[in-house]
Amino acid sequence: MFRNIGAGKRDLSFRQDRPWEGKMTPFKLFSNVYYVGTYQACCYLIDTGDGLIMIDPGYKNTAYLVVNSVRDLGFNFKDIKYIICTHWHYDHSEATAAFKDLSGATTMIGENDFERAKEYFTADKVIKDGDALTLGNTTIKFMETPGHTKGTISFFFDVKEDGKTYRAGSFGGAGANKLGKNTQEFEGARVAYRNSIARLRKEKVDLFIGNHSWNNGTYEKSIKLLETGENTFLDSTLWQKFLDFCEGRLDNLEKAEAQQG
Ligand SMILES: [Zn+2]
Repeated sequence: MFRNIGAGKRDLSFRQDRPWEGKMTPFKLFSNVYYVGTYQACCYLIDTGDGLIMIDPGYKNTAYLVVNSVRDLGFNFKDIKYIICTHWHYDHSEATAAFKDLSGATTMIGENDFERAKEYFTADKVIKDGDALTLGNTTIKFMETPGHTKGTISFFFDVKEDGKTYRAGSFGGAGANKLGKNTQEFEGARVAYRNSIARLRKEKVDLFIGNHSWNNGTYEKSIKLLETGENTFLDSTLWQKFLDFCEGRLDNLEKAEAQQG
């Protein structure tokens, strides 16, 4: 029986000198999707039946926690065939080089984040808007959703459970922290972010996969799942609600700026 570690409210900020504070109990999220990330940085494994796909390795300092989590769930790093980074920031991609060494996987990132990501790793393949990746029973559809970074990649794929098919999806970079006047990574980041949200809204998502724990209460939902068996990740209303929240944050940012004159 898995028990989650450190139940209760946790600190979202990551401390490089105390990486163990990010420890989370790994768990089967739904169907063939597994959580092996930390409290501050989400990392997933998709078991395709013909190898694993890893999404967002996370920080270098928490790599050992992810390695332990992968092993605790009974998986082997050598079975990871692809490592996909949703965007170049270090909380998503810093451990990629180490995990490539352990697995021999093909690493991938959005084409417009490729250069920036070289700070941490050089991707084997770039992802373009509309690309798809098939491995085993899973086909992941990618959408370039710039705003948070220039090359942020969101993704969607079908999962099956009890004969039913559900659509899983994730916004690969939702943070408004890169939409400020002085924090934007490229010109037109806000317009791009709004356009990205408009495109994401057209996707139907039954299983909303967080890019950070705050996106969907990953941690709180994991406790519920581990302790009661109730799966609150599967909820087709969460996706649109989250996109409303993201757009609202940008609205508020612009309102606050307008008031300041
Ligand atoms: Zn980021």
